[in-house]
Amino acid sequence: MIAEVVIPTKAKSIDRLFDYLVPVELSVSVGQPVEVPFGYRQEIGYVIRLKDENEPNVDKLKAIDRVLTEEEAATLQPEMLGLVQFLRERYLSSWGAAIQTVLPPVTRAKMVREYVLINPQGDLPEEVVLFFKRRKSVSKKILQQEFHLSDHQLARAVNDGTLQVRDRVMKKRRKQQQDEVNVAYLEATKLALTNEQQEALSSILDGVDQRVHQTFVVHGVTGSGKTEVYLRAIEHVIQSGMQALMLVPEISLTAQMTARFRRKFGERVAVIHSRLANQEKFYEWQRILRGEADVVIGPRSAVFAPLPRLGIAILDEEHEASYKQEKEPHYLAREVAAWRALRHGAVLVLGSATPSLESMYRAQKGHFHLLNLPHRVEDRPLAKVNVVNMRDEFSRGRYSLFSRPLKEALTKVLANGEQAILFLNRRGYSTFLQCRDCGHVMTCPECDITLTLHKRGNASTLRCHFCGHSESLPTVCPACGSQALRQFGTGTQRVEHDLLLEFPGVRVIRMDVDTTRKKGAHEEMLQEFEQEQADVLLGTQMIAKGLDFEKVSLVGVIAADTSLFLPDFRAAERTFQLLVQVAGRAGRHQLPGEMIIQTFSPEHYAVSLSAKQDYHAFYEVELAARKAMGYPPFTEITQFVITHVDDTQARRDAESLYLNLRERLSEVEGVRLMPPSPTTVARLRGKYRYQILVIYRSFRQVRHALDECYRKALASVKPDTSIMVDVNAYGLD
Ligand code: ADP
Ligand code: ZN
Ligand code: ZN
Repeated sequence: MIAEVVIPTKAKSIDRLFDYLVPVELSVSVGQPVEVPFGYRQEIGYVIRLKDENEPNVDKLKAIDRVLTEEEAATLQPEMLGLVQFLRERYLSSWGAAIQTVLPPVTRAKMVREYVLINPQGDLPEEVVLFFKRRKSVSKKILQQEFHLSDHQLARAVNDGTLQVRDRVMKKRRKQQQDEVNVAYLEATKLALTNEQQEALSSILDGVDQRVHQTFVVHGVTGSGKTEVYLRAIEHVIQSGMQALMLVPEISLTAQMTARFRRKFGERVAVIHSRLANQEKFYEWQRILRGEADVVIGPRSAVFAPLPRLGIAILDEEHEASYKQEKEPHYLAREVAAWRALRHGAVLVLGSATPSLESMYRAQKGHFHLLNLPHRVEDRPLAKVNVVNMRDEFSRGRYSLFSRPLKEALTKVLANGEQAILFLNRRGYSTFLQCRDCGHVMTCPECDITLTLHKRGNASTLRCHFCGHSESLPTVCPACGSQALRQFGTGTQRVEHDLLLEFPGVRVIRMDVDTTRKKGAHEEMLQEFEQEQADVLLGTQMIAKGLDFEKVSLVGVIAADTSLFLPDFRAAERTFQLLVQVAGRAGRHQLPGEMIIQTFSPEHYAVSLSAKQDYHAFYEVELAARKAMGYPPFTEITQFVITHVDDTQARRDAESLYLNLRERLSEVEGVRLMPPSPTTVARLRGKYRYQILVIYRSFRQVRHALDECYRKALASVKPDTSIMVDVNAYGLD
């Protein structure tokens, strides 16, 4: 037999199957991880196909060394292999990237050498013999460290039959998860569902019971009880002997969701996310595979959890961009979940207060079922929204970060002992440093972007948010020598600073990438806020979603414009979604909520319609704009990005890919091909970047051409050019 084996590495140049002989003494099946000689090394590969030995040069083939044990590496089960193929078909992924995405990391086993005592009368010190009496076997390590036996002594003992060698694969213990709940199936208090919740639930359960794949869009305002509907649907799925997948947009939301699920389902809940150590991930994966979990919760990557009895897959906040993976393979978790649900005849639920235009469009066309939850439970009112035009504030000579209305509202909140959330989509202190005399702006030497000022105590540094480059603050302008350097723009650090100045004694928790690097930091900070150890939670978009605090009565958006004018056709949609979501953080419980949006563009429809929380009006305006521009959901966009340290080389390689695409796509109707142009950030980490966009109606029409041109380009460029493809690109950068 010959096995066709994939060696999953990052190198795109070896993106193919390799033939290996299967030695007669090995039993090898499709999907298994194997150790094979590859070049001068040993590599781990996966068997993709088996075929008969009728190859012409079969005697030149190398043989598989061994099959890895289950403790070392996971096997590609048939569905996993199907997913690998799907990632290759849909996202033009390489074998290696696809396998590494679908499977948990390989944890190559350690072998431990142990000895068994055969002859107690043999030539060994007495205390060693005594030690053996109470044990079946003793490890080599102990014999050497505790009893100072040398290699030579041990070898002799084996040779004369006193000891016997036994090699064993070392078992790794799964680390107990800190938040493990040991009571199975704690019964949560049963709320009486509202009529709207009941209707949505019945539709979903009908779908589950039919066991025919269908998709539901649950459009429910924040606080309408969507999560409660998910919980009930999953309960039914489990009672029917099936399993559930619950995806959340961010790691920071996993903890809250998990706590709520554990209260209901106890230990039958498994959690998978990228902050788990490799081994923890591996063991959680194995636990799920053994059927010890009925519900898997996690962000994007949890969509690959091995669930052989999948009955329902739910994406909470389905519109979130974090469901799209930003590196190869650029998969969209929504599409992967749909693929799996289809295979299992399972139900897919897409929940959101602001469904993506794509999902709503499909619902309107009748491909998805639309379920509406237009009211908050117990008719709690939505937050009262007040839009503050910062241009007016400035013209009245008020230059504070906090407008008059926001200041007044904050004062009231603090006086009443309530809590506030302040939101700003930018971290750091100020966004850039500019010379007032010559206009020079401090930029990263490696990237085409401005450096952000960060403060730590009295020290200030300039940092690049793309590549991490950092330098100390110059005292004079490097271009003209002037001392008139001024800070522009505002980051979360600056807001914290000014907040403490204007509200002495206020207790602030700042949550952004800079303060949450440590494992567990998210959960800790949220817990502190929950326990009212702070008055204000200040942060970037990581605090915009899903969080639910009883004492929050005010939400302030420091600057609603930060995401509005990004060069991305989804900028308006993103801004609208973000503002609606942030508004949902206030007044979720007994306290009525107020929201204040500070903006320089109060008349922009994304701002004004979010203030009215009018999704349908926004949907209509935005859909018309997309139609006029020929953008998604009417089309799909694939982006190629070509990068090289040398500008000319990058342009040349982009040009040649473009010409190939142009020729291959010329016969396909309705395709728009945009010639190479510099990306928005034209240089990143010292490399020049060019993009080519392909805009088309149906991927099926162009797939073959894109795949062929991409592979041809990969094969023809030098290794220092990198070519990246992003099918159904989300953020265009
Ligand atoms: P969403 O996911 O739509 O934001 P949740 O399911 O989190 O809404 O519900 C919001 C709050 O209302 C939660 O505290 C939840 O426990 C509560 N809740 C949900 N459904 C009901 C109900 N039928 N009756 C009373 N409270 C409810
Ligand atoms: Zn200058
Ligand atoms: Zn940089």
